[in-house]
Amino acid sequence: MATTAPAIDREALRRKYAEERDKRLRADGSAQYVRLEREFSELAADPYTPRTERDPVTDHVTFAFIGGGFAGLVVGARLKEAGITDYRIVEKGGDFGGTWYWNRYPGAQCDTASMIYMPLLEETGHMPSEKYAHAPEIRDHCSRIGRQFGLYENVLFHTAVTDLEWDEGRKAWIVRTDRGDTFTAKYVGMATGPLHVAKLPGLPGIDEFEGKSFHTSRWDYGYTGGTPEGAPLDRLADKRVAIIGTGATAVQCVPHVAKTAKQLLVFQRTPSSVDVRNNIPIDPDWFAGVAEPGWQKKWQENFVANLGIGFPAEDLVDDGWTDLGKRIRAQVIDMPPEERTPDNVMAAFEDADNQKMSEIRARAEAIVGGDTGEKLKAWYRQLCKRPCFHDEYLQAFTRPNTVLVDTDGQGVERITRKGVVANGREYEVDCIVYASGFEVTNDFVSRSGYDVTGRQGTKLSDCWKDGMRSFHGLHIHGFPNLFFVQQNQAAGFIANYPHNLVDHADTVACVVRHAEIEGFAEVEPTAAAQQEWVDFLLSGPGARIGSTECTPGYYNNEGQGYGDQAVFTTGHPAGAQGFFTHIDAWRKAGEFAGLEFR
Ligand code: NDP
Repeated sequence: MATTAPAIDREALRRKYAEERDKRLRADGSAQYVRLEREFSELAADPYTPRTERDPVTDHVTFAFIGGGFAGLVVGARLKEAGITDYRIVEKGGDFGGTWYWNRYPGAQCDTASMIYMPLLEETGHMPSEKYAHAPEIRDHCSRIGRQFGLYENVLFHTAVTDLEWDEGRKAWIVRTDRGDTFTAKYVGMATGPLHVAKLPGLPGIDEFEGKSFHTSRWDYGYTGGTPEGAPLDRLADKRVAIIGTGATAVQCVPHVAKTAKQLLVFQRTPSSVDVRNNIPIDPDWFAGVAEPGWQKKWQENFVANLGIGFPAEDLVDDGWTDLGKRIRAQVIDMPPEERTPDNVMAAFEDADNQKMSEIRARAEAIVGGDTGEKLKAWYRQLCKRPCFHDEYLQAFTRPNTVLVDTDGQGVERITRKGVVANGREYEVDCIVYASGFEVTNDFVSRSGYDVTGRQGTKLSDCWKDGMRSFHGLHIHGFPNLFFVQQNQAAGFIANYPHNLVDHADTVACVVRHAEIEGFAEVEPTAAAQQEWVDFLLSGPGARIGSTECTPGYYNNEGQGYGDQAVFTTGHPAGAQGFFTHIDAWRKAGEFAGLEFR
């Protein structure tokens, strides 16, 4: 398909993309936003689970994990399998799920295929109901993992860690929380999530609005009616609703609000790229044929291979994510081998991207058409912003009750007592839904809400003030028995985030099992191994995400980039596949090269 499509004028498109970006650049960058939890704490409260009083905990556990999302669950599962019985998760929410606990807005569903996205499907025997499962099913799955592996037994919900300190004498971490707990743990894992601190646009007048308002991660079904399971939002029938923001969250909830609200006004600053979704139910007979031992790992690895520059024989997931990889490969295959220089491969990448984005723009025109269709066209390269996939979002704008208020990149100006001001005009509404996203920063302390004090009083914030340093993204020199479960300096940015987590969980279990069997008190990467790993990472091409040539957004710190530190926010030079292959061999070797056990 890509090879026969008409050529697109690369230079003209670059100019158009730059124009659209420049329109949106603003001096205040990320400071344009305010934190829900800090500035609007009453809006940040947990609307889903009542908080129960309990006595502070002052005991000792073998392993404590900070964060009860996928990472805490999969690490817990693997450690239970490894024989660690006293595993404790500390979680801010009222149940497991992390982002899936908080995000219950109507229409929430995974954007990466359930078969590879939902962790431990094989271990739990769960068959996803759809190619892209909806949030309630994913949340139930989190509970399923929690129950199956006994993770509810020792958990502390509605609890935030405030401080983590290594006690050299006791060879244990002291964990302090906002519920007055002070307990110790031999090992600690941390996965507080890259996107969990909800933010609002710092608009003048935001606290003066007299109607109802909430952030999408605190959806108020009491006000809207309906349920996360999909019951119609019937209480909106006589309401004028504003949704501010058109990112991945808005793309999913707009169609549901559009179906029931008297009127829906969608305030757009930058359109998302919205490609075909093609969700389908999963057929149990088909699934039975697929679910042979080891199937999920095989599918996850196949997905990664299809996003990389290798030439895998099959594409098991076959969706919008793998399509881009296939298009690039098709262009490269067409190139005579002697022309496959890095510059030519990058040009092929750009052409494939241009082709893809022009199809996505044509989709907006075909489905919506007219002036609104034009305004819904995204003018940037696909990975400048989070790609979206939906078969009802664009269609919602063909409904008579749904209005796109495009602001030509300038955004909403302010909030009044009665509504929203954009393009110099006040729109009176009953309800404002802020689909304004989450704070993303390279600064771990600011995002997670606590610092980590390692050996000899060293603060993690000091160690990383010039950028992250780790061994395999998971271990940090100076911070024994600590595991940082996330993607950077490991597989890097991949469309199937949970793959990073299940892979790290295998490593954590492997290291802890070895330490426990051999009776070691501490495990820590050597300074030399960490340095060597970081140097190796920096020898690669660096991350493709976050360029300041892109339209502003959280990927590129609102157009300002992440400065010199950004080079450390990278993955294996050979991509995700390179990391997974490396770490698999590292684990199998059983030598724990780079780690020191004492
Ligand atoms: P985003 O940060 O992607 O979007 C925030 C939106 O608010 C943007 O459209 C932004 O515009 C807009 N905005 C901010 N200020 C203003 C203003 N003053 N006036 C008008 N609009 C404004 O947040 P999301 O919650 O949508 O998504 C965050 C991330 O969460 C996603 O990128 C994705 O990684 C993840 N996610 C995953 C899902 C899944 O896997 N199923 C579903 C939903 C989210 P602008 O673009 O111009 O900055």
